[in-house]
Amino acid sequence: MKSTLHNKRILITGGAGFLGSHLCDKLLENGNDIICVDNFFTGSKDNIVHLLDNPYFELIRHDITIPLHHEVDEIFNLACPASPIHYQFDPVKTTKTSVHGAINLLDLAKRKNAKILQASTSEVYGDPKEHPQTETYWGNVNPIGIRSCYDEGKRCAETLFFDYHRQFQLNIKVVRIFNTYGPRMHPDDGRVISNFIVQALQQKPITIYGDGKQTRSFCYVDDLIDGFVRFMSTDNHLTGPINLGNPNEHTMLEIAKIIIELVGSSAKIEFRPLPQDDPTRRKPDISKAQKELNWEPKIHLAKGLKRTIEYFDKLLSS
Ligand code: NAD
Ligand code: UDP
Repeated sequence: MKSTLHNKRILITGGAGFLGSHLCDKLLENGNDIICVDNFFTGSKDNIVHLLDNPYFELIRHDITIPLHHEVDEIFNLACPASPIHYQFDPVKTTKTSVHGAINLLDLAKRKNAKILQASTSEVYGDPKEHPQTETYWGNVNPIGIRSCYDEGKRCAETLFFDYHRQFQLNIKVVRIFNTYGPRMHPDDGRVISNFIVQALQQKPITIYGDGKQTRSFCYVDDLIDGFVRFMSTDNHLTGPINLGNPNEHTMLEIAKIIIELVGSSAKIEFRPLPQDDPTRRKPDISKAQKELNWEPKIHLAKGLKRTIEYFDKLLSS
């Protein structure tokens, strides 16, 4: 039976992860019933411990490669390791999570006639030959490299979402997330923002891979979550894919210098080998999100970084 006070019953896979835990917070705040599903591969109870006493929040330890059965109105599928070191740790499992996981969640959405959102990624564009990347660009992805388990897994998941939409008229939403950062990123997950902040706080060398001229565009987590919520509330015709990210593009050298300055660190920069297939540049074209969702990021890099530095500072000193 549906709760009378609460709005919708929403299932969030990967809900104990970085983005998933912020999404749990937001959707609870909006008056929904949340079922958080996670296998804790990269997620942590610490990210959701403040929600465990909330009667409208349920935590289920479950691996999405195994089918699941719940009464739900909406599904956000975020479960998948997202940082290169974690998705490359067990690449076969990463592909299974993306592909078998998508099938299991899509089957659940089909049985329950639920709306379903897929957390896809800018990695579907690979090492892009078009810049900035629009949703119509098909990408430049190596199908057999070390990033392929993630890139091709996410591409196949998008295929499945659109086939379920065409074949079974499922109400789907596919969002292509560009690099997002903020509190609750894992300190050891190897992503550039968390690495640089932790290194700067600990006065350890800032590790730049390659010459540091590669670019990324960084979005603060609150902006991204706002985009998710807006997208999910749109009607059936808007399937995506839609890019969500901050178009403000920086080289890794610039990011290192900004973080060193904000932390007030004396850490020195050290250059390390560039990992295989590391994309040279990345920047979202967000015109579609601006037009269809009336969305654009609001939090400037310096402000978002300060909040993230505060988080890591507390975490490291506790
Ligand atoms: P994260 O690693 O913090 O979160 C992923 C969560 O999924 C973790 O809690 C993990 O334990 C869980 N998980 C992994 N495999 C699972 C499985 N088989 N069954 C159940 N749970 C499983 O990463 P994140 O940054 O929060 O990313 C969330 C989603 O957003 C991912 O799908 C990722 O691909 C996508 N994404 C993130 C970014 C980013 O910059 N943060 C960019 C593009 C796409
Ligand atoms: N990077 C870096 N030093 C680090 C971690 C990452 O120079 O300590 C680089 C990495 O090679 C890439 C960029 O920063 O060019 C972003 O890496 P991240 O893993 O955060 O995201 P992704 O490559 O998936 O966009």
